[in-house]
Amino acid sequence: MNTNTFTVHVLGGRGSFNTDDKVIGGHTSCLAIYCGGYRLILDSGSGIISLNSEVLQEIKTHGSSESTLLYSHAHDDHLNGIPSFKGVYNPNCRLNIVGGLHDNLSIEDMWRELFKSPRFPVPYAFLGSKRNFVILMDGAKHIINTPNGDIEIEMRRMNHPGNSYGYKITFNGRVLTVTPDHEPHPELDKSLLQLWKGSDLLITEVQYTDEEYLTRKGWGHDHLSHAAAMLRETNLKRVFTFHHDPDHSPEQVRDMAIKLEELSGVRCDFTYEGLWLTV
Ligand SMILES: [Zn+2]
Ligand SMILES: [Zn+2]
Repeated sequence: MNTNTFTVHVLGGRGSFNTDDKVIGGHTSCLAIYCGGYRLILDSGSGIISLNSEVLQEIKTHGSSESTLLYSHAHDDHLNGIPSFKGVYNPNCRLNIVGGLHDNLSIEDMWRELFKSPRFPVPYAFLGSKRNFVILMDGAKHIINTPNGDIEIEMRRMNHPGNSYGYKITFNGRVLTVTPDHEPHPELDKSLLQLWKGSDLLITEVQYTDEEYLTRKGWGHDHLSHAAAMLRETNLKRVFTFHHDPDHSPEQVRDMAIKLEELSGVRCDFTYEGLWLTV
């Protein structure tokens, strides 16, 4: 593997809940991000199930597997793939789990909830993996030292019920920013803009059209004209939408990306399951 590569594999790009769409995919939020040979996983919606064979094969070949999971927040569509992720049961799987606080609960608290009876048959105490939970505060940076260079991760709080967090990831001089669920907010938008600026690639949610947003204020999501106005404040070259509304057809998702490009002047595309991007 080229040790300088910085790539993203889209494993789940739907927001809110799963769909049976086979064109752009129906799995909920999960991105696998490869910095050289090191794997970050952004959120564990149902898309994380697609990593099962890769992780088990690593353990078979190398004797162990390591990943760092970055959590935007603890809503089901970003969390509930974990009990189906085989790595959590394997003693040779090491998971560093990074996130902020959500209504004063940590990601570890939320993981424990997932395995509580009667929600799930396997108790949390039976998980075999080696887990290290890290709580970050708004604006904090987290560094991962790898043989191929440091990965710098900056986390910022966004406006979403119960809090959500966006991440700016720098590796080998390239910058990827991922901003899942967030809704316009006069103060937090300034922070969001700082996160977006200077990114070589931005992956962000724009779940609603302007018309849809009118009846969905407070649900925690961005809409086209607001995202476009923010993008016009940046010098970004490439933006991909994700966390697509489950009620949107692939054609609507495509049309929204076209509209966002028209309104913002920034090249916009949409993510789909199986897509690989180079940062
Ligand atoms: Zn979501
Ligand atoms: Zn959410």
